[in-house]
Amino acid sequence: MSVTVKPKPAEGEQDFPSLALVNTRLLLPGGAEADLLEGEDAARLRELREAIRVLFEAYETATAPPPGALAAVNEAAATGPLVTQLTWDDSGPRETSYRTANGSQAALAADAIALLAGPAAARLHACGAHGCIRWYLRSHGTRQWCSTRCAARVRAARHYARHHPGDSV
Ligand SMILES: [Zn+2]
Repeated sequence: MSVTVKPKPAEGEQDFPSLALVNTRLLLPGGAEADLLEGEDAARLRELREAIRVLFEAYETATAPPPGALAAVNEAAATGPLVTQLTWDDSGPRETSYRTANGSQAALAADAIALLAGPAAARLHACGAHGCIRWYLRSHGTRQWCSTRCAARVRAARHYARHHPGDSV
């Protein structure tokens, strides 16, 4: 019997539930894949999760995403009720419309759209640590890992490689 400990959230997951959704598929130490999604919606959320992941990858590699992934996210976003809000700033009143439904596919899809189309997208990256498939928002220029745990793992691996030249890990 093994106990799966949910890892600490990656940088940015607190602000973007869609990022947290993508990171529910992860590799455990040792390389086994784990899926943290459970419950009734899991199957449908899994589809949305993979579509969002594909869009993240397209964004990072600056390539056009497959139309299927784009359609999956847009279809999910279109299932929520449309809310129209009035916002008011220095340039006056403005109408903003968005679809909402907390915790649902629609809300997660809308969140992914806001992430990819908004200013945070510039900070979106795949974790650079070997054996990690999580995504995160880079908090400052040099950071390349999703968490302090991955940073520590990379440091340990480099240390090992330095002291065991020729070994393949
Ligand atoms: Zn990582």
